[in-house]
Amino acid sequence: MNPVVLSLAFAAAVLASLLVKFWLATRQMRHVAGHRGAVPAAFASIVALEAHQKAADYTLAKLRTDIVGEAFGSAVLIAWTLLGGLAWLNTHVRELVEPRWGGMAYQLVLIGTFMLVGALLELPFELHRTFRLEQRFGFNKMTPALYVADMLKSLLLGLAIGTPLLALVLWLMQAAGSLWWLWAWGALTAFQLLAMVIYPTLIAPLFNKFEPLADETLVRRVESLMQRCGFRASGFFVMDGSRRSAHANAYFTGFGSGKRVVFFDTLLQRLSGDEVEAVLAHELGHFAHRHIVKRMVMMLAFSLAGFALLGWLATQPGFYLGLGVIPNALASNNALALLLFLMAIPAFMFFISPVFASLSRRDEFQADAYARSKADAADLVRALLKLYEDNASTLTPDPLYVRFYYSHPPASARIEALGLPGAHAAGALA
Ligand SMILES: [Zn+2]
Repeated sequence: MNPVVLSLAFAAAVLASLLVKFWLATRQMRHVAGHRGAVPAAFASIVALEAHQKAADYTLAKLRTDIVGEAFGSAVLIAWTLLGGLAWLNTHVRELVEPRWGGMAYQLVLIGTFMLVGALLELPFELHRTFRLEQRFGFNKMTPALYVADMLKSLLLGLAIGTPLLALVLWLMQAAGSLWWLWAWGALTAFQLLAMVIYPTLIAPLFNKFEPLADETLVRRVESLMQRCGFRASGFFVMDGSRRSAHANAYFTGFGSGKRVVFFDTLLQRLSGDEVEAVLAHELGHFAHRHIVKRMVMMLAFSLAGFALLGWLATQPGFYLGLGVIPNALASNNALALLLFLMAIPAFMFFISPVFASLSRRDEFQADAYARSKADAADLVRALLKLYEDNASTLTPDPLYVRFYYSHPPASARIEALGLPGAHAAGALA
C-alpha cells in the first residue's frame, strides 16, 4: 500500500465528509427556518403554532451545535493522524511503559490514554448539549451530580469490561496467526450476544430504576395486545427515564421467553392507554418482521468484513505511514493498527450511511403498518404527534437531509402512510 496515496485519500475523505455535512446542515436550516412561520396546512388544525416554532428553534439550535462539533472532530482526527498526534503519544507511552511492564501493558495504556484524551476533548460539547441546549428547551432533567455519577459508573464499567476484552483481542492478534481476525471477530460476537442477554437485568439497573407496571388496566390491555400478536413477555416495567430527560420512549428487550417490555415513565404520563397500546404494537411490529435479528446479522457481516480488512491492513507498513505513524521496529504494532483503523473507517463509511438510514426508515414503515393491523391507526397517529411534539421534531425537514440522516421517517410521511393524511387525520383526532 502506497502511503502517499492513503494520506491523500484519507484527507480527501475527511474533507469531503465535512463539506457534505455542512451542505446538508445548511439545507436543513434553510428549509426549517423557511417553514417556521406557519404550521403545514395538513397539520394546521392539530399542531399549535407555538409547538411548531419550538420544534424549528430546537432543530436549528441542534444543527448549529452539530456543525461546530463536526468541524472540531475532523480537526482532531487530522491532528491525531496526519499531523502526528498518535505518533507522538505512541513514542512517549512506549518509552514509559514497555520497559517496565511489557508489551501488553504498553498497548493497553496507549489505547486507554487515547480514549481518555478523546473523551476529554468531547466533554465540552457533551456538557453544552446537556446543560445548555437540552436545558434551554426544557428536555434536560439531569443534575450535575447525576451527570458525574453516570460518567464515573460508565468509566468503571468500561474499564472492568473493556480492558479484558481488549487484552483478549490484542492477544489474539499476537498469538492466533494470520487468521487472528476471524478469532477476534468470533470472540467479540460472542461477547455482544452475552451483553444483550445480561444488559436488561444486570447493566441497565445500574443507571435506572425498573418497577413492575402497576396500572392493572394497562397491564391487561398490553397483555391482550401481545396475545393477539403471538408474543409473550416475562414482565412489564416502568423505567424512571424522567430522571435524565423529558424525551419519551418504550422498548422491548431480551431473548426467547425472557423478553421484557419497558415503558419510560415519561411515555406513560403523556399518552393515554389506547396510545400506549398503539406504540407497543409498533414495537412488536419490529419483532414480527424480525428487524432486530436482520439488523444484527447485517452488522455481524459488516464487522467480519471490517476485521478481515484490518487483518490485511495491519501487515502493511503503508497503512501506518499513510496515517501519520511510523510503525514500531521492536514493539508490537497491533494497538496502533486498531486505533488507526477505528479512526480511518468512519471517514470512508459516511458516504454509505444513507443506505442504512433508508433501510431503517423502511423498517419503521413496516412496523407502523403492523401496528395499524393490530391496534387503531388513529391512536398511533395521536401518539406519534404527541411524541414528535414532545421531542420537538420538525414537521418540515429538508427531503435530502431526511434521506441522509433520518432513521425514522418524518411525522408527516408516517401519518400519510397510516392512511390518515391531513384533514382526515384532523377529523379522526378531533
Ligand atoms: Zn420503530
